[in-house]
Amino acid sequence: MPIRRLSQQLINKIAAGEVIERPASVVKELMENSVDAGATRIEVSVAQGGLELIRVSDDGSGIAADELPLALASHATSKLSEADDLFRIATLGFRGEALASIAAVSRLVLRSRRRDDVAGAEIEAEGGRLGEVMPCGCPPGTQVEVHRLFFNTPVRRKFLRAPSTEFGHVSEAFTRIALALPRLHCTLRHNDREVFDVPPDADLPARVAVFFGRELADQLIPVEGEHEGVRIAGYVAHPSQSRSHNRMQYLFLNGRAIRDRALQHALGEAYRGLLMTGRYPIAFLSLTMPPELVDVNVHPTKMEVRFQDSGRLYSQLLGTLRTRFLSCDLRTSGAADTAAAAASAGRPPAADDTPLREQLAQWAKGRLAAWSGPASFGQPGGAGAGAAQTAGTATAAAGAGSPLDVFRLDPTPAPCSRWGADDLPEHPLGAEALPRAGTRGASALQIHNRYLVVESSEGVAIIDQHALHERILYEQLRRRISAGPVEIQQLLVPEAVDLSPAEAAAVLEHREVLARIGLRVEPFGGSTVLVTGFPAMLANFNAKELLCDLVGRLIASDSAPQPRDLLDDLLHTLACKAAVKAGQRLSPEEIDELLQQRTLIDDAHHCPHGRPTELVFTREELDRQFRRT
Ligand code: ADP
Ligand code: MG
Repeated sequence: MPIRRLSQQLINKIAAGEVIERPASVVKELMENSVDAGATRIEVSVAQGGLELIRVSDDGSGIAADELPLALASHATSKLSEADDLFRIATLGFRGEALASIAAVSRLVLRSRRRDDVAGAEIEAEGGRLGEVMPCGCPPGTQVEVHRLFFNTPVRRKFLRAPSTEFGHVSEAFTRIALALPRLHCTLRHNDREVFDVPPDADLPARVAVFFGRELADQLIPVEGEHEGVRIAGYVAHPSQSRSHNRMQYLFLNGRAIRDRALQHALGEAYRGLLMTGRYPIAFLSLTMPPELVDVNVHPTKMEVRFQDSGRLYSQLLGTLRTRFLSCDLRTSGAADTAAAAASAGRPPAADDTPLREQLAQWAKGRLAAWSGPASFGQPGGAGAGAAQTAGTATAAAGAGSPLDVFRLDPTPAPCSRWGADDLPEHPLGAEALPRAGTRGASALQIHNRYLVVESSEGVAIIDQHALHERILYEQLRRRISAGPVEIQQLLVPEAVDLSPAEAAAVLEHREVLARIGLRVEPFGGSTVLVTGFPAMLANFNAKELLCDLVGRLIASDSAPQPRDLLDDLLHTLACKAAVKAGQRLSPEEIDELLQQRTLIDDAHHCPHGRPTELVFTREELDRQFRRT
């Protein structure tokens, strides 16, 4: 084929691929234009997650009628005039390609009126073909309507997800801008319903409350520091608030939301020792620096930037946070506040607010008592045990009982009743209260509170207690689920969980899969979802915490996950959460129980993550090592 120059239309379509990925990208670009135009009020309205319509209206400077075609032309901008400007960018846009790109892949209507003009003007473009500029009546400011995004690029349209998911991304884009620019009055509507209305006088904590709920907003720690012209200011969340993913780390650079691995790493470092592994801190931090200290022209959507001295910035962020943390006692959080809030919501604070680790320890201690109860031993079969357990869930949530069933492969007494009922402790106290002398000891030795050393006919096995328990629970959950629907405990008082917009959308999109593992959720408006039902076998867990954890898995995959894979992922998460941890002391009975169950599962040798659960040294090997042979 001969070499030909591409038509401008094709060039724009290609450019659109870089900048415009989905409705959310359109919302981001249009809102940024409004901000650059000095708007104090921005209204965003979308239909069908933005697939049908996206409308952004502002009260900014407006565009002159004769410049409307230019606004839609590629590489046309009012924000740069000379090359040097590129190295001191003070506006959000500067590449002059957003409107052209959007116009290339949609039907776009641009209406605008400058403050001093008597009337407005509008121009329409379809698939990049511009119409005539026509006069129109409109208030001062600019309004852009984008209909049927990607109508002429079917492949891209096919890649879009369900409207609810796309709307989640739209709200996320909206959230970023609303958080980056306090004083901006902005509203978001979806299918004519108001989703967010952020008043102009709302400061950052008030904005966080609008988007993520009061509970988080009440747990923010203000941060501030300046060094050689670089200012870091904003809020980080108390360690009691964390997530299983790092998407709640909002970083803004000169008013622009950015992602920066190094800074996120610094954030993680600052929280080292304050969070459990696998948990990420929450932050809303603005960096202000002279524009020439950073290159924002390295990424088409400008989400990533290049700092002139990223090492110094890293140390500055880490130093600022560390100093801040030293000056406040992080152990005595607003835990009291949250407990009070929980109590006022009619929930038992102990179960909801004890950190999970502690709950597990409680459970581990309490489980012996639960086993020894005549009711649990007398249960003849699975169904009966399940029913009894459901009935008892209300108390289990308060920490009194134990959702023991899930921790045992077979609810009949056989596997764990190697000792007779008479030998069982009568006192319903935790294992620690029991005198060990006189009762039978465990058949394994626990070392370093994490490994079990067991003698076998072959030799000796060293078992990773967490990995083994995780494997057992995983198998058990999987069998439960393949055997039929998981038993769901209806919550008397549904629990409202505040999520980020994208999280809420993901949860609602995967409602059916969640229901299959026993978690029932309903939309509750905004980005809050209601948990109305909970897996009965996990009654000891905090609904909110469980959901927040699973959400991480739901949004981790970018393409639509297969329900089966998702289910499997969720089971892994559940098993890992529920399993005893490394570092947790086990009673002899608990050790015995664990070892008993080990013989009942298909593949006890690997935990669901694929790590080995045990190492075996044969007697021959030992003999050889000790030079006995
Ligand atoms: P960029 O923002 O990079 O300049 P765009 O394609 O997004 O490129 O916009 C092109 C031009 O159209 C802008 O430079 C600006 O002059 C004008 N424009 C776009 N949106 C608005 C708006 N909401 N209000 C005023 N002017 C606007
Ligand atoms: Mg722009």
